Amino acid sequence: MKKFGKTISMLCAACIMVSGVTLTAFAESSSINEQTIDVKFRQVIDMPDVAAEDAELLALAMEAGATTGWVYNEAEQRFERLVTYDDVEVSVSGTDVDLDTNGRARVLTQANDTVEVEVYDPMLDKTYTQLISGDSTESAIIIDLDISPMFSIDVDNEELEKMDIQTRASTTDPYWSNGEKGVYGYRLHCNRFNGYMGNGTYYSSHTSVQSLLNFFASDCDWALGSYTYCLADYGDNPYCAASPSSKQASCSTLMGHYNRFHMHTTYTGK
Ligand SMILES: [Zn+2]
Ligand SMILES: [Zn+2]
Repeated sequence: MKKFGKTISMLCAACIMVSGVTLTAFAESSSINEQTIDVKFRQVIDMPDVAAEDAELLALAMEAGATTGWVYNEAEQRFERLVTYDDVEVSVSGTDVDLDTNGRARVLTQANDTVEVEVYDPMLDKTYTQLISGDSTESAIIIDLDISPMFSIDVDNEELEKMDIQTRASTTDPYWSNGEKGVYGYRLHCNRFNGYMGNGTYYSSHTSVQSLLNFFASDCDWALGSYTYCLADYGDNPYCAASPSSKQASCSTLMGHYNRFHMHTTYTGK
């Protein structure tokens, strides 16, 4: 009997040890979270004050912008859209992860940890860093891209204007004068003003409701929905450029469109 009692107490001790190990193991596994990270870019176009007489044009721009995902944020006076870029490189706590076509990555994160997510855009050679909580099961990374400067580029053109040289686009000249109306087949820097509902006119350096209407559903707008390439036009290695001629309207070529000026017969058509 005495021996039996001893056996029981040894068994109990073993039980406690086993359950202790089990509890520790459970505690460890519960501190790891399977987490979905959603990586999105929010493109923003700041609007100037919209004059009362432009209200109708703005309504038209809202309709045209909707075809490529743009929404007008009235409180902020800007157009916004969320896009997914799957050609960016993402790392979580220093380890590279793959994004699916919806811009999502599935990772394991440690509870109570702050986790660093790095998103690198090779085209812009730019890294964005955001911190997320290791406790979550879902996190959203939203990177703001202000594309308002797209409406004030073409430095070459501005330089030429300063020199008071008559600039006219043609089938051989890719430089446009401010307010110049597009002609089919003319060379250009980027097809960013051939939107279906626009007037096909080039505006060099201002954001107006009309210039937005020209941009929405243009070749460039469609391209920016899938690639950041045209945003590189401000840097040392532009994607679309007036010179060299091989870079003219590269985003049109990318979308399978004609790389000289053309208008469209539908929102999505060539
Ligand atoms: Zn372009
Ligand atoms: Zn086109």
